Amino acid sequence: SGSGFCCSSRLLAQSLRRFASTLVVAEHEGGFVKPSSLSALAAAEAIAEENKISVLLGGSGPALHKAADHAASSHRLVSEVLVADSEALAHPLAEPWAELLHSVQQKGGYSHVIASSTSFGKNLLPRAAALLDVSPVTDVTAIKEPRVFVRPIYAGNALCTVKYTGEDPCMMSIRSTSFSPTTEAMSETKAAPITQVDLSFLSEGTIGKSTWVNLTSQDTERPDLANARVVVTGGRGLKSSENFKLLEQLAEKLGAAVGATRAAVDAGYVPNDLQVGQTGKIVAPELYMAFGVSGAIQHLAGMRDSKVIVAVNKDADAPIFQVADYGLVADLFEVLDELLKKIPDK
Ligand code: FAD
Repeated sequence: SGSGFCCSSRLLAQSLRRFASTLVVAEHEGGFVKPSSLSALAAAEAIAEENKISVLLGGSGPALHKAADHAASSHRLVSEVLVADSEALAHPLAEPWAELLHSVQQKGGYSHVIASSTSFGKNLLPRAAALLDVSPVTDVTAIKEPRVFVRPIYAGNALCTVKYTGEDPCMMSIRSTSFSPTTEAMSETKAAPITQVDLSFLSEGTIGKSTWVNLTSQDTERPDLANARVVVTGGRGLKSSENFKLLEQLAEKLGAAVGATRAAVDAGYVPNDLQVGQTGKIVAPELYMAFGVSGAIQHLAGMRDSKVIVAVNKDADAPIFQVADYGLVADLFEVLDELLKKIPDK
């Protein structure tokens, strides 16, 4: 009868919720799960100790399968790795990926879906959430309860505690700098089973209007800005792209990544993928060195969680000194010159 159906579907929903698990959408590179996605696993762990974690990886080729092996033993709570192997998912295009996530969620009935707040995560999550008719919670920096989260607002000047009261799944993007993968999570980990995802939804033809054109990246040995342990950043005070080469030399010696303020990017000194801040990358390295950076609120939003901040500015009243652990009121060119002479090559 109608009421019988209603009752059993409610029971089914309850039992699904009781046994619900978390789906982590992972990114990979060179056959390994990216550190930002390992942070998403750490966030998934914070949701519930006994909660099982499924990891979704997509792409094509041998690197995908190597990354799946990595994911399978990346965290003691990972119970399953779902692999979506298709050329259509080889590039981070949100449209096919959102369909993938929609389809995987419908089959798995996960209570939570987590991605990191990378360009890819920020592109994918709202689109997939719209397909699933839920509202995502973005930029989570702490998990208080499985549905209660902390997220920054007003460019990081206030922290807001939000409660998700919508339907399952609770979808969220996390700031990877706020969730460190623990080494215990990886020790004594038995490899989880790897399952291929049914991709029949892809057979209906091309999904979406976007096409992949190409990837341009700087061919550099230096670490990636978002994951570097040391970041040296230049602001408008550097005055030219030529002068930014001095920062690059310092970065080379320190094994650091180079960052920039928006003013430096807008002036054309460096490309915009180096921008740190509210509308750039969020970083939290062990050491952040800022040269000729005034410390505007929008810049601080992207680096104030760094462990040690060093600032060099000729203006003693520059706001960067309010967040700096070590401040030097000096001409940055003299300081850089001295640092380059005194620090040995790596
Ligand atoms: P300036 O503010 O011009 O500071 C240059 C500093 O260099 C000065 O303090 C000066 O004393 C010092 N200096 C000059 N010469 C020397 C020298 N020889 N030796 C030592 N010190 C020297 N900005 C970001 O960085 N990231 C963002 O993501 C971002 N997002 C934004 C989003 C919005 C919506 C808006 C409105 C703004 C955003 N901004 C962002 C811009 C931000 O407000 C500032 O304009 C910018 O950060 C300033 O960059 P700066 O510190 O390089 O330049």
